Amino acid sequence: MTLDTAWAIAWVRTAADRIAEQASELGELDRAIGDGDHGENMNRGFAAARDALEELPANARPSDVLRATAMRLISSVGGAAGPLYGTAFLRASEAVADRVTLDAKDVVAMLDAALGGIEERGHATPGDKTMVDAWTAAVSAARAAASSGDDPVAVLSAAARGAEEGATATDPLLPHKGRASYLGERAVGHRDPGAASAAIVLRAAADAAA
Ligand code: ADP
Ligand code: MG
Ligand code: MG
Repeated sequence: MTLDTAWAIAWVRTAADRIAEQASELGELDRAIGDGDHGENMNRGFAAARDALEELPANARPSDVLRATAMRLISSVGGAAGPLYGTAFLRASEAVADRVTLDAKDVVAMLDAALGGIEERGHATPGDKTMVDAWTAAVSAARAAASSGDDPVAVLSAAARGAEEGATATDPLLPHKGRASYLGERAVGHRDPGAASAAIVLRAAADAAA
């Protein structure tokens, strides 16, 4: 599939569906090391984003889809994750602003910009046991796939796999940012909820292209 506006719309819809299906699991992860609302927060945000797609003009570009998603995430999600994901989608939108379709290099630029936005906004670095861990692994995997000549859809698959590995890798870590950091050692052995949701969102991007 070509990574065009139809793909971007399918990404947001697929992400909204998957988040809705897994909201209680995400809530459970957040109950263990946070305040339990990550599933609800994400579900509210992505449901609002999906609704926003209805208002897009017929000539919308992928960047317009990403920007509309960002705006809804920022305005409808109260928790830490709202502004972080909102900034991610906003930067992703800016990174592909003039593109009608995305090539492998655009996919890497888009994901890298999203990660950069999250890092700038939340000041977390890899290993802090946050969504940054999943996004960082996604960007490295995407970059490796693109340099080995993979097509944009394969680059997205690599990113999704990377994010899943990055999320799993948060289990043994000591948290240094967000609510989980208040728990210290007691958070060890639990997966970071934001890293888990990032893996869902990036898997949705790959599946929307498949
Ligand atoms: P809240 O913690 O306000 O209830 P959520 O539960 O929706 O918000 O989101 C929690 C997730 O946000 C965490 O699992 C973590 O991945 C992410 N997060 C929290 N603070 C930061 C930060 N400073 N930088 C990056 N990610 C963060
Ligand atoms: Mg929470
Ligand atoms: Mg909260």
